[in-house]
Amino acid sequence: MVNLLEVKNATKRFGNFTALNDVSIQVPKGSIFGLLGPNGAGKTTLIRIINQITLPDEGSVYLDDEPLQPIHIRDIGYLPEERGLYKSMKVGEQALYLAQLKGLGKNEAKERLKYWFDKFEIGHWWDKKIQELSKGMAQKVQFIVTVLHKPKLLIFDEPFSGFDPINANLIKDEILQLRDEGATVIFSTHRMESVEELCDHIALINKSKKILEGKVSDIKRAYRSNTFEVGVLTEDNDALYAAINDQFIAERADFRAIDDQLKMKITLDKEGTSNDLLQYLSTKGQVLRFNEVIPEVNEIFIKTITNNG
Ligand code: ADP
Ligand code: MG
Repeated sequence: MVNLLEVKNATKRFGNFTALNDVSIQVPKGSIFGLLGPNGAGKTTLIRIINQITLPDEGSVYLDDEPLQPIHIRDIGYLPEERGLYKSMKVGEQALYLAQLKGLGKNEAKERLKYWFDKFEIGHWWDKKIQELSKGMAQKVQFIVTVLHKPKLLIFDEPFSGFDPINANLIKDEILQLRDEGATVIFSTHRMESVEELCDHIALINKSKKILEGKVSDIKRAYRSNTFEVGVLTEDNDALYAAINDQFIAERADFRAIDDQLKMKITLDKEGTSNDLLQYLSTKGQVLRFNEVIPEVNEIFIKTITNNG
């Protein structure tokens, strides 16, 4: 797998406070990379280093295997956490101005802006002043300006904060589409809801240190617990529950079903296999549901942070 971006051992101190402590990440080309961590973990500090807004005290950053240089700024689209547009400028004027700063010609900028304004159904905002827009509306405009010049790397710092759920979904879909069109995306978040559907790679940062990084599916495999959610139709649910508890570690589960089946979460020991369990259950009743319980990124996040103090 080829990495578009590599951060090697980045450390950043503010006075004698270490905001980022020896953090390395590898962002594969074409991936959506989630930078996760609680507030104050160091996510924005890392993002500002990648955008050459702050320099690390130690460590280095490589884009396409080249040490990061000012010329790379044009390869990166960056939506900062502190969104800033000129309040008294008109939306269209402002968007055109920023697009031209990114190196687009006026006509091309206009064309692309029209495409995005139509797509987001905000054409009628063109002559409004930025200060007339709500926070979420201004953020939409800033999102457009971030992606307009089609950079190969997109970095969104907390892209969902400030959006209502509908617009957060809209942005989520756009991020997926930008990835499908070839962009590599890094985004930070302290909320886990958006992570599952979006990221294929994640890094967890806690108290300035990276505590976990990798492909989401690999991480989930490492954290799986050999637990299965099952539903069995039986004559006597309580009797079967007791029998199963003699053999396995089971607890009652809750999911939607159309009949009165015995619903359980069963955890097998390391050697136990799903086929063994299924075979056993099928002698006891009719198995209507059988699926592995896959840990959610949120659970892994909480577990890892708790373990790392
Ligand atoms: P996150 O984005 O994960 O919420 P930040 O990277 O913004 O975290 O901040 C990490 C830590 O570094 C915080 O404790 C923050 O107060 C501190 N910090 C960030 N920028 C500065 C700065 N310019 N001066 C002093 N401390 C800072
Ligand atoms: Mg931040």
